[in-house]
Amino acid sequence: MDRDDRTLAEGQQVPSQEGPAYNAVLAEQCGADSSLDDGAGAKLSDPTKAYPKPPFERQSQPWPGLACRMNPRPDHGETSYKGSGRLAGRKALITGGDSGMGRAAAIAFAREGADVAINYYPTEEEDAAEVIALIQADGRLGAPLPGDLRDEAFRTALVQRAVEALGGLDILVCNAGRQQSHASILDISTEDFDATMKTNIYAPFWIIRAALPHLKPGSAIVATTSEQAYDPTPDLYDYAQTKAATMNYVKSLSKQLASKGIRVNGVAPGPIWTPLQVSGGATMEKLETFGGQTPFGRPGQPAELASIYVQLAAADASYATGQIYGASGGAGQP
Ligand code: NAD
Ligand code: MG
Repeated sequence: MDRDDRTLAEGQQVPSQEGPAYNAVLAEQCGADSSLDDGAGAKLSDPTKAYPKPPFERQSQPWPGLACRMNPRPDHGETSYKGSGRLAGRKALITGGDSGMGRAAAIAFAREGADVAINYYPTEEEDAAEVIALIQADGRLGAPLPGDLRDEAFRTALVQRAVEALGGLDILVCNAGRQQSHASILDISTEDFDATMKTNIYAPFWIIRAALPHLKPGSAIVATTSEQAYDPTPDLYDYAQTKAATMNYVKSLSKQLASKGIRVNGVAPGPIWTPLQVSGGATMEKLETFGGQTPFGRPGQPAELASIYVQLAAADASYATGQIYGASGGAGQP
């Protein structure tokens, strides 16, 4: 589907490819996407019509998938997110920052004035290069830190590399995740189960432990959990329990770190159009109707969650800790 065919709000224009530096970079590297804003300022936009609805075409990619090969391409806010200095001077490490929610957060953080290091799996270089170019187009430092989060030695080294690249660290977004759909528990191998636990539970544990000595009062940790933490589907037995654990560690760690002035919060997305879903996260049947069961009748786009990550990282959210902010099109919890 051509991007111009995507469902836009009534009267809304596909944004111009000219103008701001980020638009030029995006147009050159990956082709611009739809946005909620045509550059003329904030507009009222009907959320039921803002983005593509099912049916989607069947599509499958080898794990972990690439956003730039999805149809339609997800919107990470490349042409729409506008900053206002909310994170000026901040230094952020985002895991899974190449695509999906992590990419939306990376773009938004840079536009809000932060320098951003992103971790991603080495085969995701194509997506990651687009994100780094977008961060740099905003005049911010963008540090690419590829590596496998299932590897304990890498996970610990990752934090040190981020601190060296950024000259410090005060925002940590533990967002990377592994989701593989299995109809039955009998289909989940020990290796599969282990890979999901290593990525979703061990990685944040190791990364937060390594990061803590660097985090000064005022720093923020943001985790990506899921509506699956509260209302798991039968095909995500292993994944859903890691998201419940994520929700739980946010609540535990926030109490533990409150006296240090470090806030810990989580984001719980509903169905969002990202590579995770087309690389084993959803069956082809589920993909065709993806997001159609929500009250909005469509999946969310990563761009629609960017401002939540910004809000949880920003200093003016100073009384929010141990909170989970949801964005699920009306169907999910909390
Ligand atoms: P995504 O595929 O864009 O992002 C997931 C990222 O995790 C990948 O880009 C990859 O860089 C990283 N990753 C996974 N395994 C890794 C490994 N071994 N080493 C290094 N990096 C690894 O998909 P997304 O949906 O944006 O996922 C981001 C987070 O959102 C995940 O924690 C996911 O569980 C959560 N989530 C997604 C949805 C959804 O519907 N898409 C819903 C709720 C929660
Ligand atoms: Mg990716």
